[in-house]
Amino acid sequence: MKKISLLGATGSIGIQTLDIIRNQSNDFELVACSAGRNIDELYKIILEFKPKLVSVAGKEEAEKLTSLGIPSQIKVLYGEEGLIEVAVHEDSTILVNAVVGSVGLVPTMKAIQNGKTIALANKETLVTAGHIVMAEAEKYGVSILPVDSEHSAIYQCLNGENPNEIHKLIITASGGSFRDKTRDQLKDVTIEDALNHPNWSMGAKITIDSATMMNKGLEVIEAHWLFNMPYEKIDVVLHRESVIHSMIEFDDGSVMAQLGTPDMRVPIAYALNYPSRKPITNHKPLDLIKFGTLHFEEMDFNRFKCLDYAYQAGKVGGSLPTVLNAANEEAVAAFLQNKISFLQIENLIENALEKHNVISKPSLEEIRNIDEQTRQFVSSLIK
Ligand code: NDP
Ligand code: MG
Repeated sequence: MKKISLLGATGSIGIQTLDIIRNQSNDFELVACSAGRNIDELYKIILEFKPKLVSVAGKEEAEKLTSLGIPSQIKVLYGEEGLIEVAVHEDSTILVNAVVGSVGLVPTMKAIQNGKTIALANKETLVTAGHIVMAEAEKYGVSILPVDSEHSAIYQCLNGENPNEIHKLIITASGGSFRDKTRDQLKDVTIEDALNHPNWSMGAKITIDSATMMNKGLEVIEAHWLFNMPYEKIDVVLHRESVIHSMIEFDDGSVMAQLGTPDMRVPIAYALNYPSRKPITNHKPLDLIKFGTLHFEEMDFNRFKCLDYAYQAGKVGGSLPTVLNAANEEAVAAFLQNKISFLQIENLIENALEKHNVISKPSLEEIRNIDEQTRQFVSSLIK
């Protein structure tokens, strides 16, 4: 029986993780979990899974939850301290980090220091502080198992292979909601248009990131850290069908790919069951005949500026990816609140990157400060 702590239980990945725990209840038990503000959903989760500890966004949410009348032996915490307590719960062996944003960084660090295996969906953690997180995982002998579908695909293709014989990684991109729009047509797209992803149903922030192509940029940086791969050896290819989740080209020219229907429960279950594989309830098998043809197109870096910014920030390294991530989080939040237009997301990120004086090997403290300063800078531009 593997005991699980889950950050972001009420989100898209969180709910699908709970589905795996529910359907493989002989293998997994939820011991602790967190939510943000969706207390009604968390209440249902508590009644079904009976975790020992839960955490919510703030004091108000904690009081609301307690007033609903949950079993008295369940401990309720809130804020960053609560996230950390969930991440390091003494009974858990695995942390599934499915919170959104760089708020996931410190809990991940603490979980690593407590020897927990990390199943990582929260890519912002690696983007903002990859050098620190990977060094800490190595120091404590902890595995970081990717949940992001592209990275899970690469991880699966690497099984039994020699990582030194990788020629390059080829990450596939569906293209997001606006893949067929020109830059001109992006000028007055709405939030509703942006949230309408053709292939995947996901949380709001990552759906916007897919529309700007920043999601793929964040994934390039994530792959750089997870697989210790220079940026020159990471390619992105547009692949509308989202059937091939990513590929590795090896030194002998062989290309290995992982395929499947778009269902995030597959990479979630792979990380939880690793190194085993288990059937997934109601999983729709891949029908290649129905697809008939798969398509691949070159990425246009002028059309998808955020992908270009991410490569640039990744290559410069140091504190610049922290700025990229924080500016993006702030800009996407503003877009979702109808404060800025879609194309202003790119402008704000560009401004933040240009203004920043790069620190080459930022400490955790410096990263937290730069993250905060970048958010303030971006929100001052919005006002
Ligand atoms: P959602 O927005 O659906 O869920 C986010 C979760 O985090 C919710 O439980 C939310 O709580 C909680 N949360 C948000 N902000 C805070 C905060 N400040 N403090 C504490 N908890 C908070 O996101 P997704 O599930 O889509 O994505 C989660 C992560 O996984 C992201 O990093 C994303 O990039 C990554 N990912 C997601 C994929 C997907 O298919 N969804 C695919 C690959 C990666 P509440 O709702 O209760 O407020
Ligand atoms: Mg992905």
